[in-house]
Amino acid sequence: MPELPEVETVRRGLESRLVGRTIVAVAATGRRTVRRHDDPDDLARLVTGRNVARIDRHGKYLFLVLADATMIVVHLRMSGQLLVAGDRAEPLRPHTHVVFDLDDGHQLRFVDPRTFGEVFAVAPGTARGDIAGLALLGPDALEIDRRSLVAALRRRRVGVKTLLMDQRIVAGVGNIYSDEILHRARLRFDRRGVDLSAAAAGRVHHSMVEVLVEAVEHRGSSLADEQYVDVDGRPGTFQSLHRVHARAGQPCGACGRPVERARTGGRSTYFCRRCQR
Ligand SMILES: [Zn+2]
Repeated sequence: MPELPEVETVRRGLESRLVGRTIVAVAATGRRTVRRHDDPDDLARLVTGRNVARIDRHGKYLFLVLADATMIVVHLRMSGQLLVAGDRAEPLRPHTHVVFDLDDGHQLRFVDPRTFGEVFAVAPGTARGDIAGLALLGPDALEIDRRSLVAALRRRRVGVKTLLMDQRIVAGVGNIYSDEILHRARLRFDRRGVDLSAAAAGRVHHSMVEVLVEAVEHRGSSLADEQYVDVDGRPGTFQSLHRVHARAGQPCGACGRPVERARTGGRSTYFCRRCQR
C-alpha cells in the first residue's frame, strides 16, 4: 500500500503535469471507485471546465484543488495508481476506473485492480474536516512536531508499530515505513508506547522524519508486486535501501544478523532482534 513517500512522489508528478491545466471531460466508469457520489455523473458535473490550481497532500490523501476551490480527493489504498497519459489514444490499462481529459490532450487515469481506492469531488466551501474519514486524521508525519508525537506515543498502552500506523495519531506511515523507522530508532515493534522513555520516543520522531525524507528523495518504495509506480509508470528505488522491511532471512542493514519476520494482525513485521530492543 502506498504510504507518505509514494503519495508525495505522485503529488509532485501531478503538480508538474496538471497545475494550470483545465479538465475538459471526465469518464467515471468504476462505480466502486466513485462510491461517495450517489450519482457517478456528479464527479464530472463538479469538476468539468475547471482549472487545476494546486495539488496538496495530507498523510496518504491527495487533494487536487481547482481554481474555484472545488477539490478532487484521491486515496490510493491498496493498489490505486494515478497515471498521466501523454496521448489519449494510448490504450487504457485493465482496471482503469476514472479518466480525466485535460486541455493539453493529456489524460489523468485512475487504475485500481483491487478497487479499495477512492476518487471523489467536494464542492467549494467543504472543509477537509467535514469529509468522512478525514475528520479524525492526525497531523501529517512530516508536519507533526517532536513534542506532540512523543506525548501521543507515551500515553498509549499499545505496541509502538501499531501507534505509528494509526492515522489518527500521525498520518502517512504504514507497514513498510513503520518497520524502517523502528529499526533506525532501535525499538522493537511490540514495545508499548507507555513504556518508552522520552528519549526513545524522541528517537522515533527523529527516525520517522529521516526515513520519510530519504524515501521521498528516492521516489518511494516499489516492492515485488510492482503496484506502486509514479504518474509516469516508473517504480521507486527506496526498496533497495530498506534495512529490514521485506528482507526476512537477509542480513540486517546495520549488524548483519538475519532479519526476522513476525505476523501481527495479518501483516508481516520485519525486525532485527539484535538492533531492536
Ligand atoms: Zn541488526
